[in-house]
Amino acid sequence: MNYFSTNRKAPNAGFKEAVINSLPSDNGLYFPEQVAPLSEKVLANFRSMSLPELGFEMMKPFATDIPGEELKLILEDVLSFEIPLKQVEEDIYSLELFHGPTYAFKDVGARFLARCLGYFSEGAKEEVTILVATSGDTGGAVANGFYGVEGVKVVILYPSGKVSDLQEKQLTTLGGNISALEVDGDFDDCQSLVKQAFLDEDLNKQMKLTSANSINIARWMPQSIYYAWMCSQIAADDLVVAVPSGNYGNITAGMLARRLGFPVGNFMACSNANDVVPRYLKTCQYDPKPTIATYANAMDVSKPSNFPRMLELYNHSYDSLKKEVTGFSLTDAEILETIAQCKEATGYLLDPHGAIGYAGLKQQLKPGQKGIFMETAHPIKFAPTMAKALGEELTMPDFASDLMTRQKETKKMGKGYEGFRDYLICVENPS
Ligand SMILES: *Cc1c(COP(=O)(O)O)cnc(C)c1O
Repeated sequence: MNYFSTNRKAPNAGFKEAVINSLPSDNGLYFPEQVAPLSEKVLANFRSMSLPELGFEMMKPFATDIPGEELKLILEDVLSFEIPLKQVEEDIYSLELFHGPTYAFKDVGARFLARCLGYFSEGAKEEVTILVATSGDTGGAVANGFYGVEGVKVVILYPSGKVSDLQEKQLTTLGGNISALEVDGDFDDCQSLVKQAFLDEDLNKQMKLTSANSINIARWMPQSIYYAWMCSQIAADDLVVAVPSGNYGNITAGMLARRLGFPVGNFMACSNANDVVPRYLKTCQYDPKPTIATYANAMDVSKPSNFPRMLELYNHSYDSLKKEVTGFSLTDAEILETIAQCKEATGYLLDPHGAIGYAGLKQQLKPGQKGIFMETAHPIKFAPTMAKALGEELTMPDFASDLMTRQKETKKMGKGYEGFRDYLICVENPS
């Protein structure tokens, strides 16, 4: 499979090259040249496949530089936890994407990327160093995905005091090939340090730097597996899938699954107060506003980086997009109310992100339709918000209390570039 850039000013790349480059040189996004329905055999039999078998069939046309047997092993490894569909109300279901090692749906994408890069770096002489700036969930999923992968080192930068306690423990207690830098600044400062390192020609001569950014095709595409798996667990003529969205990677992967021939149904693009896409769907005007901090903070994104992929999937036609996608957004106060109401009425515990999907279905689902919302994180990761919504503290599950007892190991860092550069050269590159 070849991948072209959505800006169409950079050369096409094969799978391996697109994964290693992460971004094409013209700042567009890689997009597969062919997106066509899978074979009739697969589409007729997918309901009887296991999760890794289904994942393999879906990734096979795309991950063309990895031999079949190897790709099978990768998917067995990546998809080793359950993704249950739970009924919440008569016509509303939750697809729980948070049963992976870091309790966020980003585990699947991060693990697939890690295994692919690990495969490509096997036998390579040079070690690869992955730089990731994180505001919370991404860093944990990436750290965990790359933990113990040979030939790969990971350096995570996070803003000191600005991630939740549990998230910080996930970043800072692994050790091994994972290092965490606690930056005295905000997320943008972390991102800026990473960008400067990528632009530093001299540094790039001394070490091989790669990014685990969410727009890498190997992080984006495997998310389509959720949607086919969802279809294999429910049969409905008129399905609506509500996807809590920030960078719009997850929902565009759902659109990809629909193009591969799975009966995914229509989409509801659910956002918090950062509602640029729901507004676009209403007005056909793409008009980003400054980012607002919300309780659903993994979705605090004002310019979703996967938007060009969404346009690509609909051939840049606003009318085709409108036929399959509706928009929905929720304020912080409504998020709290929804969590409380759903708990009261059904006993189901929503997290602040899933709550937006659930509320969207409650308001917009028509008689005869079935709705599924994506539950993208475990509620305990947002304990203070949950306590505000419910009026009481959640009990900590075992995994969380275990994590909280571990010692964090970080290196404190200012936001100036020189210190970061020295660190990379001395510590990560001792030769
Ligand atoms: C990343 C994230 C989202 C948003 O997903 P996108 O693919 O960026 O749209 C939603 N919920 C949680 C918990 C997340 O971590």
